[in-house]
Amino acid sequence: MSDARKYVDQWLRDAHAMEKQAESILEGQVSRIKNYPELAERMQAHLEETISQRKRLEACIERRGISTSGVKDVSAKFTAMMQNLGGVFAGDEVVKGVLASYAFEAMEIASYRILAEAAMAEGDFETAQLCKEICQEEEAMADWLKEHMPRITTAFLGHAASENADAKR
Ligand code: MG
Ligand code: FE
Repeated sequence: MSDARKYVDQWLRDAHAMEKQAESILEGQVSRIKNYPELAERMQAHLEETISQRKRLEACIERRGISTSGVKDVSAKFTAMMQNLGGVFAGDEVVKGVLASYAFEAMEIASYRILAEAAMAEGDFETAQLCKEICQEEEAMADWLKEHMPRITTAFLGHAASENADAKR
């Protein structure tokens, strides 16, 4: 097996684990957000997109005949980092959640750019196309977060005066 093929297989498994992690982080965030309807709506939309990304990756993994036995190990590698990103229950969790989501999207964008290039090098243009397509969805989410960050911050500071923890998220 060529090196490119070997690494594309490995990185597709990593991407699949990453999307499963994204799914659980987004579910958690959507369920906890109370006072930021725009943010909740965009995250819900990206959650649905993320589930579709996972399914498209599964079809790709199946088409390439990749064994998925290593998936669980890979997923564990992400878990520690993602707990820091997704599980912040402090008073400023909305702001920290936006920060963490932006960082997560940057990781996804890099992952798919690398995968698309490696798949091209291997000659699997269908996989390269899929990775470019998913990358665009991640870029759209990153752009949305970047654009809305100031207004979410301002809204948070407005809510922050409240003693009620629920009012802040
Ligand atoms: Mg994703
Ligand atoms: Fe994403």
